[in-house]
Amino acid sequence: MTRFIFITGGVVSSLGKGLLSAALGALLQARGYKVRLRKLDPYLNVDPGTMSPYQHGEVYVTDDGAETDLDLGHYERFTGVPSRQSDNVTTGRIYQEVLAKERRGDYLGGTVQVIPHVTDAIKEFTLAKTGDVDFILAEIGGTVGDIESLPFLEAIRQLGQDLDPGRCVYIHLTLVPYLAAAGELKTKPTQHSVKELRGIGIQPDVLVCRTEHRLPENDTKKIALFCNVRENQVIQALDVESIYQVPLAYHEEGLDTAVLRAFGIEHEAEIDLGRWETIVERLQNPEGEVNIAVVGKYTGLLDAYKSLKEALVHGGIANRVKVNIEWIESAIFESEDRVEILEHVDGILVPGGFGSRGSEGKIAAAGFARERNIPYFGICFGMQMAVIEAARNLAGLEDANSSEFGPVDNPIVGLLTEWQTAKGTETRSEDDDKGGTMRLGAYPAKLLANSQIANIYGGAKEISERHRHRYEVNVAYRKELEKAGVLFSGMSPDGSLPEIIEIPEHPWFIGVQFHPELKSKPFDPHPLFASFIEAAVKQSRLV
Ligand code: GLN
Repeated sequence: MTRFIFITGGVVSSLGKGLLSAALGALLQARGYKVRLRKLDPYLNVDPGTMSPYQHGEVYVTDDGAETDLDLGHYERFTGVPSRQSDNVTTGRIYQEVLAKERRGDYLGGTVQVIPHVTDAIKEFTLAKTGDVDFILAEIGGTVGDIESLPFLEAIRQLGQDLDPGRCVYIHLTLVPYLAAAGELKTKPTQHSVKELRGIGIQPDVLVCRTEHRLPENDTKKIALFCNVRENQVIQALDVESIYQVPLAYHEEGLDTAVLRAFGIEHEAEIDLGRWETIVERLQNPEGEVNIAVVGKYTGLLDAYKSLKEALVHGGIANRVKVNIEWIESAIFESEDRVEILEHVDGILVPGGFGSRGSEGKIAAAGFARERNIPYFGICFGMQMAVIEAARNLAGLEDANSSEFGPVDNPIVGLLTEWQTAKGTETRSEDDDKGGTMRLGAYPAKLLANSQIANIYGGAKEISERHRHRYEVNVAYRKELEKAGVLFSGMSPDGSLPEIIEIPEHPWFIGVQFHPELKSKPFDPHPLFASFIEAAVKQSRLV
């Protein structure tokens, strides 16, 4: 029997609802339960795929090719459970389904309404594809009180009635602000938020209070009394240094016990937190440090590179070093001399990106890394830019460029118009819709035996990684580039799409067309990040 945990947030956004969900998932897992996490997003986009990273942060891609909210990345990093399309839904997608049904005549002439049709669609989504998991943790995006989240809250309220008693538990995350002038923590915003939630018909079973200072017992009592929650179901969430301390911190405050108690589960299974203790121990006791420059376009908003940042931390965990990341706006390299500021770093990473702005700066950064023997890691766009740089400066194709930026004589990177998937051939053209039409999700790549990449993947012959791009390195230039020193060491199984390049003459110069950062976990660092940081450690000993 699958049980449901609904997680809502109040007072302000950015309280860490996603982390709370992910950490609770990890704690239940540590007690031996099977979990799956879901996100219900109230905005009207069908998915975040077409949103600017400045709007929404990173777009997290699943194996089955869904473009989803970045919280799904937290869920995977904390539980290791691969998320799927069926784990993220938005108002846009719900309405798309409801309206398609209406057009088909499925409502048999009825008036289509928010209640019950939209709420039914939300409930159907929440209950679907649960498999044999013990707990579904469903996080509701937004903050209680938002107009757009109302249908979602109504749907989860109904589920509490539809399902047998004891199958749904509601957690509400709020803020208890500290007023420096008064020298006091204030519980009123929490009281109001719960009042709002109860007005919608949802009585929280567990209250999680985010606070900068420990809650005095009196305040806990007051919150419990005014919010109609038992005192031992009020859990504090104090700030911690690293997100990987969150599961341990919540466990100490009794979160998992409170949730199980709310379900009436008394005989708690033993908990094994060894995995998290090891991670925290390694993070707190590094044996050295490395400086990595990430040369990108959205460096003003680090949420745009969420998984990437975490994967670099994981690479540090694997090597017992602290990874200092310098976020650098690539456009600054568009004047020659500025590239020199990269001189002191131990590794250069050019991440995924779109559009021509700053692309020449990324090409300059790749060239600098190549010439100075600094470890270089190019991810997706970062691989494309590195290949353009090598084409221009090693193979002598001066006008080499990507057709993403306009017509070009030597399209080293070109629009992908046809490719193979497990379901058959996919085709695209210039003027297709932008939403959901990239090469998305997991694809296999064949690795060249004895290459550096095969070595990094432990001698594997074939790997599977997640993609999100419209353009590809043009295989027509393979011979010319290989002659110039760029080895195509990973290809799509049919040999038509270059997936990985490396420069054997260089200590560590690798470009990958996929996004390895999406699959890295603190307890299972991705081999490419572990190897890149290892190379950076070696580099740091040289300078
Ligand atoms: N803009 C490039 C493309 O569409 C790279 C995309 C990316 O880095 N994710 O192919």
